[in-house]
Amino acid sequence: MFGLMQQRPLLISSLIDYAATWHGDREIVSRDPEGAFHRTTWASVAARAKRVANALEAIGVEPGERVATLAWNGYRHLELYYGVSGAGRVLHTVNPRLFPDQVRYIVHHAENGIVFFDPVFAPLVEQLAPHLPLVRGWVALCDRTAMPAVKVDNLLCYEDLLAAASPDYDWPLLDENAAASLCYTSGTTGNPKGVLYSHRSTVLHAFCTCAADCLGLSARDTILVVVPLFHANGWGVPYAAAMCGASLVLPGPKLDPESIHMLIEQEGVTQAGGIPTIWLNYLAWLENNPSRLDRSRLRLKHVFSGGTAAPRATIEKFRDLLGVFLLHAWGMTETSPIVTIASPLEKHADATREQLVTLQLKQGREMYGVELKLVGPDGQDLPHDGKAVGELKVRGNWVISGYFKGEGGQVVDKDGWFGTGDVATINPDGYVQLTDRLKDVIKSGGEWISSIEIENLAVSHPDIFEAAVIAIEHPVWAERPLLIVQLKPGHEPGKQDILDFLSDKIAKWWMPDDVVFVDSLPHTATGKLLKTELRERFHGHLAVHG
Ligand code: AMP
Repeated sequence: MFGLMQQRPLLISSLIDYAATWHGDREIVSRDPEGAFHRTTWASVAARAKRVANALEAIGVEPGERVATLAWNGYRHLELYYGVSGAGRVLHTVNPRLFPDQVRYIVHHAENGIVFFDPVFAPLVEQLAPHLPLVRGWVALCDRTAMPAVKVDNLLCYEDLLAAASPDYDWPLLDENAAASLCYTSGTTGNPKGVLYSHRSTVLHAFCTCAADCLGLSARDTILVVVPLFHANGWGVPYAAAMCGASLVLPGPKLDPESIHMLIEQEGVTQAGGIPTIWLNYLAWLENNPSRLDRSRLRLKHVFSGGTAAPRATIEKFRDLLGVFLLHAWGMTETSPIVTIASPLEKHADATREQLVTLQLKQGREMYGVELKLVGPDGQDLPHDGKAVGELKVRGNWVISGYFKGEGGQVVDKDGWFGTGDVATINPDGYVQLTDRLKDVIKSGGEWISSIEIENLAVSHPDIFEAAVIAIEHPVWAERPLLIVQLKPGHEPGKQDILDFLSDKIAKWWMPDDVVFVDSLPHTATGKLLKTELRERFHGHLAVHG
């Protein structure tokens, strides 16, 4: 017997309709690349998203067609989030920080006919245009007065398109499983692969994101979205914010600590999300500029951090300097992205400060709607005892079933489990602790050494700014860890000092065989340590220095 309840499709257009109707006056604050402010509301974003939908029809974008964006976090990008997907087209957010050839590959692979771009990306557009035969129109995200002098065929002006478009538009009643947006993984090896989100997966992920034990977003929040809108849908925050009526602060490309602090203070930000590198820089600046910090002027409650592990020092400094709780999250482009969040349980009500930090260092517990398991090398399920180390597998309503155009072949098993490539433990309370990527784990004498764990400890050394640990070939042990560090300016500890610091914190056989100092560590376009480059650079290091 079936239940007798209605079934309405879960559509992205319903999010913006809701935000416009019930939270229409909540502000969307943006900063452009020059730092100028723009203030709008959910009502205005919704109205202009309808103009976007009409404009897409006017320039011949077919339903289901992928529409690319090369843009920072700003209100026009947000309008495209809703206008493109709401109208049954597919929003393809391209990461402009990738190598130009990767951008070319991605735009071509997605068969993008129209590319919306921020004028600051005009040089990139000019460089790419001759190599993108399928692109038939380039829309600059600005008004007529700010049009870039870019030599491409069919250059269009966003504000002119919107001015010419009717404000009347009825969102189509799409199938909730229709494609809504597309985002390519930033894989460090091989070509990027496309993850094609559906309306249903996006709306369900937004419900999860708002939940109290996830980000706990509400109509009383003002969220600073430091994570780029081109990275896994800005972690889904633009959708979740519309669902609950939160205000958004979209910082554009100015992500320096001073700008971030100014926005947090001036805009009354209550939640802020970004990768640990951003927070590391921000906290270092606050420490060096104590006179700039007036806690009575801040409303910040939470920062949420993901993409790479949140270091202990970052968690502690947010607590001690700002009285802010860092919510550590884990996920992937392939998982929309949120899967786990390190929120405390009722049993932690009396936890000491130290116990709480230990909890926050973990990647967290799975949210309802997605499932995790831990699998050993032979494919056997491993216990959740906090000790067994295996690969994390994930399945659920906002997890990939396959890559766009079938790239990579069958990527989930017959029961829907997707191999994340992340190595972890899960403790009896369900908290996941990532220990490595499968490809980064250090295999020494038949045992695994966690590069992430050593990196986390190393960055708690007062002189170390950032650390990377990589496997180096070793004649006896197969692989041994090499610690590569970037020091804070003006600090000069010796190798032995760093090793002594680690010696009572990790097992003897985990101790790095050497420490090298570098001016800066290489990162991927999404802020992860680029270990492939480090492995190349330090190949054979122990043979020479060991
Ligand atoms: P991306 O698809 O670019 O978002 O990258 C996903 C990968 O980032 C995951 O598979 C992890 O390896 C890594 N990652 C994401 N969140 C965390 C975290 N909280 N701690 C450690 N690694 C993370």
